[in-house]
Amino acid sequence: MSKVRLHDKDFELFIPEGEVHAAIDRLAGELRAKYNGKRPLFIGVLNGAFYFAAELVKRLDIECEITFVKVASYHGTRSTGRVSELIGLNEKLEGRHVVVLEDIVDTGNTVRHIMDSLLEHHPASVSIAALLFKPDAYKQDIPIEYVAVRIPNDFVVGSGLDHDGLGRNLPGIYRIINTHA
Ligand code: 5GP
Repeated sequence: MSKVRLHDKDFELFIPEGEVHAAIDRLAGELRAKYNGKRPLFIGVLNGAFYFAAELVKRLDIECEITFVKVASYHGTRSTGRVSELIGLNEKLEGRHVVVLEDIVDTGNTVRHIMDSLLEHHPASVSIAALLFKPDAYKQDIPIEYVAVRIPNDFVVGSGLDHDGLGRNLPGIYRIINTHA
């Protein structure tokens, strides 16, 4: 299937599933080398990271734990701007090596909020692993240490990513066909 329509938008296949899997294989190798013996805690950010988290941890033959959080985001007062809260985090993070699993890092605002929240719990380390990273859109100074695939500034779906609820189940990555270009 090389083209799909989701709601009112058309998408074309951009990265086939085999290439996504090969990129996750490589990333798993990097993480295994770094975290073997450290019993890392992987924290997947729902909803989008369910696919990446499952594909990654099944390739990691090291002792590790995995949990999931949701980011609840709402507008605070004018002075505080956007406020974010991590929902569902029950594990003790103090002294743990934490790896945040994100489906996609775009501007980096979400990563910034997650990092600020997690650091309050005094983990030994926090790193970010992303299935997809848009370097041209990134505005933060937090290093995105582990990236499966770098992509241009296009809107994409598939492999966990949605367009208004649809498309998360598509194998591979699809990008929007810009009909107004
Ligand atoms: P941020 O700008 O904070 O790095 O990304 C915020 C969120 O925007 C991501 O977690 C993701 O939910 C959404 N997002 C950013 N780029 C895309 C994209 O290309 N496709 C989809 N489906 N979501 C995206």
